[in-house]
Amino acid sequence: MIPYGCQNIEQADIDAVVETLRSDWLTQGPAVPKFEQDIAEHCHARYAIAVNSATSALHLACLALGLGPGGKLWTSPNTFVASANCGRYCGAAVDFVDIDPSTFNISPDSLRKKLVHAAIDKSLPDVLVVVHFGGLPCEMKEIKTLAGRYGFRIIEDASHALGASYLEEPIGNCRYSDITIFSFHPVKIITTGEGGMATTNDAELARRMVRLRSHGITREEDEMVSESDGPWYYQQVELGFNYRMTDIQAALGWSQMQRLQEFIIRRRYLAQRYHQLLSDTPLVSQATVPHADSACHLYVVKTRDASARRRIFNGMRARGVGVNVHYIPVHMQPDYRSMGFSLGDFPVAEEYYSRAISLPMFPALADEQQNMVADTLIQLLEQTH
Ligand SMILES: *Cc1c(COP(=O)(O)O)cnc(C)c1O
Repeated sequence: MIPYGCQNIEQADIDAVVETLRSDWLTQGPAVPKFEQDIAEHCHARYAIAVNSATSALHLACLALGLGPGGKLWTSPNTFVASANCGRYCGAAVDFVDIDPSTFNISPDSLRKKLVHAAIDKSLPDVLVVVHFGGLPCEMKEIKTLAGRYGFRIIEDASHALGASYLEEPIGNCRYSDITIFSFHPVKIITTGEGGMATTNDAELARRMVRLRSHGITREEDEMVSESDGPWYYQQVELGFNYRMTDIQAALGWSQMQRLQEFIIRRRYLAQRYHQLLSDTPLVSQATVPHADSACHLYVVKTRDASARRRIFNGMRARGVGVNVHYIPVHMQPDYRSMGFSLGDFPVAEEYYSRAISLPMFPALADEQQNMVADTLIQLLEQTH
């Protein structure tokens, strides 16, 4: 079975991990700050904070922005559940903004309309989590303008978008947001097994996330509420977590970063090639945006309708092609329905979901494998029923 996504591990990655295993530090050593610095430099961000997953990064980002009980978080329904769950971890209410039918990203128009109503109802959000779906940057300039007008903070969920750029600058530079988060799960652009990162330019937000990553403990005297007892001393000044990344993971992440450009070039080449191979079919792919360069994490096609999707999905799987579906709209999950969401709440995301299929997309996908995927798909499209 050709998978839809797959990590890319080479000897240099293995050597980096082994070297760490032989070193004095398995965690809280030098590999974590080295990886953080590499990400910060790549993203043109002042601070990068490594954690044990993107989910943890989202949680810390929400807490650092002051989200709590009584607060409100909005996000896209077309995402992994983690983009919404982070609000609930903080005791906040979660709501969604429908997507654009061509970019599959949060629709700035829907956002504007929902904000107008929320301003009247006095139910404006505190935090908006935008998701660069499939690695395609959202329309950040417009969203940032709305944030200024309506007074909410922005987290970019860039789990798919390491290596993407927007207006000629790397995603993660936080020019249009407060915090950006990345995932290093094996299917993502680079991997650390499990792992995540938050970037920001705000010293206070960075400090807060660093502290919350490790139990809310500080060793900095200026953060303590009373005088230090001595060099051994630390204080827990708030309730935090153990969300730390290990040095083993960070060494792998740093090693993977050395091939980031190679990965992105290959992904963009494969996306371009799918586009050509499937150009004579009625399939609809994600729109390209002139001022944004996607990291091409996913290659999604929209089939004619829900029944065509089911038939093609089953046909591809039966022929050894590991297609997938991204995403089941979060509000359709039973846990969210039990909170009052229902079918029809976000019709564009629902319609998109009913027709979407993700084709295999990862750097090691060979041209011949890709030809086989496209041929199989075209054959299935030609069979009427
Ligand atoms: C993978 C993913 C996450 C969660 O990442 P983890 O590192 O597995 O916690 C969050 N949001 C999106 C959009 C993702 O794709």
